[in-house]
Amino acid sequence: MSRKVIIAGNWKMNKTVEESVALAQGVVAEVGSVQDVTVVVCPPYTSLYAVSQVLKGSNVKLGAQDVYFEASGAYTGKVSISMLKSCGVEFVILGHSEQRQFFGETDETVNKKTNVVLAAGLTPIVCVGELLEERESGVTEKVCETQIRGAYAGISAADAVKTVIAYEPVWAIGTGKVASPEQAEDVHAFIRKLLADMYDAPTAEMIQIQYGGSMKPDNAKELLGKPNVDGGLIGGASLVAEQFKGIVIPA
Ligand code: PEP
Repeated sequence: MSRKVIIAGNWKMNKTVEESVALAQGVVAEVGSVQDVTVVVCPPYTSLYAVSQVLKGSNVKLGAQDVYFEASGAYTGKVSISMLKSCGVEFVILGHSEQRQFFGETDETVNKKTNVVLAAGLTPIVCVGELLEERESGVTEKVCETQIRGAYAGISAADAVKTVIAYEPVWAIGTGKVASPEQAEDVHAFIRKLLADMYDAPTAEMIQIQYGGSMKPDNAKELLGKPNVDGGLIGGASLVAEQFKGIVIPA
């Protein structure tokens, strides 16, 4: 079966409200009417509502960079799924390596958040990937397997098909060191086989697996040409509308 390509821009902790609106306007102008690719932008929380207004009437979807797993209450600094939903958010990035590295994200919290996002009818983008030393010591597959089994613990096949996985080798994020298309394809194929083991082959075939890590207009086509690479999670190159377009519609 053919899976739709999904390209998501993770703006990270960049852009004020005004800057976000300008970037979103640029993205809408460049790729707002694209239909054969699902295009998502993930601004910081503070810009979500303003960007949602810019995206109205276009095909560009709104994503958030994280969520807290509790519904409401005394959790200073956190944002709930209903708050995101009320801003028009449809996708939520979970388990990004920066969340794991700096903010104590674990496979267990990713699992709780995945459940909360699915229960709200939104799409989790579950990030997994190995550190450089893990790749060098030959445990890339083991690391990805542990992260995926943790994130999907207790999640049914019917719900798993509503998720997206982003394979992001940590050594390639923001470093300019992109995984080769073969390295990416090897891990994506492994992840799909793992999903077939955890669920079944049809379920595994339906789940979109994005690659993330220094994807740019000049390497996107080759990466996206691999059979198990179904899209990209884009950091740096999503901050300039023309560069983002060069990934959504690679020349
Ligand atoms: C990311 O942060 O998810 C990412 C892939 O960043 P970059 O494209 O800048 O490597």
